[in-house]
Amino acid sequence: MNRPNLTVALALALFASPLSAQTDQSVAKAVSTITPEEIIRRIGVIAHDSMRGRATPSPELEKVATFIGGEFRKFGLKPGGDSGRFIQRYPLHRIQLDTVASTVVVSGGPSFRIPGEATPVGAADIETSGKVVIVTGSAIDATSARQLELGGTIVVLLLSPEDPTGRNNPLVRGLTAINAQHPAATVLVTPVADQAWRVLSTNALAARVIPAWQADGGPSGQLRPPLILVREAAIRAALERRGANIAALRQTTGPAQRTPMDLTMSIALKLQTGATLSAPNAVGILEGSDPVLKNEYVVFSGHMDHVGVGTPDATGDSIFNGADDDASGTIAVVQLAQAFSKLTPRPKRSLIFLTVSGEERGLWGSEYFSLHPPVEMSQVIADLNTDMVGRNWKDTIVAIGKEHSDLGATLNRVNAAHPELNMTAIDDIWPEEHFYQRSDHYNFAQKGVPILFFFNGTHPDYHGRGDEVSKIDGEKESRIVKLVFYLGLDLANAAEKPKWNPESYKSIVQPPQP
Ligand SMILES: [Zn+2]
Repeated sequence: MNRPNLTVALALALFASPLSAQTDQSVAKAVSTITPEEIIRRIGVIAHDSMRGRATPSPELEKVATFIGGEFRKFGLKPGGDSGRFIQRYPLHRIQLDTVASTVVVSGGPSFRIPGEATPVGAADIETSGKVVIVTGSAIDATSARQLELGGTIVVLLLSPEDPTGRNNPLVRGLTAINAQHPAATVLVTPVADQAWRVLSTNALAARVIPAWQADGGPSGQLRPPLILVREAAIRAALERRGANIAALRQTTGPAQRTPMDLTMSIALKLQTGATLSAPNAVGILEGSDPVLKNEYVVFSGHMDHVGVGTPDATGDSIFNGADDDASGTIAVVQLAQAFSKLTPRPKRSLIFLTVSGEERGLWGSEYFSLHPPVEMSQVIADLNTDMVGRNWKDTIVAIGKEHSDLGATLNRVNAAHPELNMTAIDDIWPEEHFYQRSDHYNFAQKGVPILFFFNGTHPDYHGRGDEVSKIDGEKESRIVKLVFYLGLDLANAAEKPKWNPESYKSIVQPPQP
């Protein structure tokens, strides 16, 4: 360790242009806008019962996006959405299986009735066929799945009368390992009773809303092998004719085994594409003050949407308010926008304040933003994502992703400079939960943007009717938001932009192609 050279430090201070940094007073004034009262007030607006859980898409989500766009306008941000607006819209399709045009058929018959005898789970436009291979046993993993040579086959799993939906079936639970072998399709043969079948098939065939770009087989739309449910009564004869003893096969235990059948199955699924809908992101930009660095951007993100309404609980409450998930992170972004807009001069780099929707449906809004950003993604130097920052313990906040770039070290340094916050950003304490892949920052990370994800962990009200505004700790959240402010300011003014850890870059940004 060497001593700081005071002469050099003094010279640098003298030559520094007055515009190079914000004064302590300016920073203090900006930070003073981040108050528990304002946080609770704004969370109270977007997590109010009248917002009905902000489902994607819904009229209430639109209201929330309009509210946030209005706040961005008040702060003097530049619109970063579509054609001079604060709202960026992304297209959604309402899709449903065309049960008349779709067929599931085995060689030599029969052609199963949809939905009477067979039904796909989820809808897709797909035509495929292959040799039927029955997979049995009581255990499967990636290695044993590979040995079964399932590529291009129709994998048939036999469900039992005791567990006709396969909830506890080890092979159904190992479906990811099976699908990784790229079978043409997976078929679950179920002895389910009539009434349960009606419920199952009705749910499986219900209309769904999906992002338009995924309907076209876009980046996240890589059609996984289709999953088909077939009633045992409908297929039993065809299997037994080829020598399969269903009862005996179902009893097989031990490592997964294959039983090839002299039988081909062909599947043609046709979609009915209905109305085109859309959903909003809100985007505000604070332009940087440095003539060169202002072409680089720090993004602050949080998700506005939640899961909507469900059936009433014992108290009659049917609204999933999502006050912590993620009104807390959304309002963190709004508070950051307000605080940064107070700074003079503005930070050197530009800042993007982004509140997305569709997170709960599969990170839709952030995926769309990453595909259609208002600036090149290569100009985005970091994303600081806040998702659930209003509850749980007082004095630490988990920062996920610290190990993947030097943002972790920068955060530690900034954090150490602000002991008055009584808030320590700690490492990921739940690595087995893979939270790194479970919120909007992941769409930035995959595009090469280093990220940190601020997250207080789940609680019994997570995705429940009890995630209410009254349970938010505004005082705690205000200290987290201040920490993110100081970190964002450091990144926006730093000479160098954040750097990936090379190993992480390889595994996250350049993962091996399957
Ligand atoms: Zn959630």
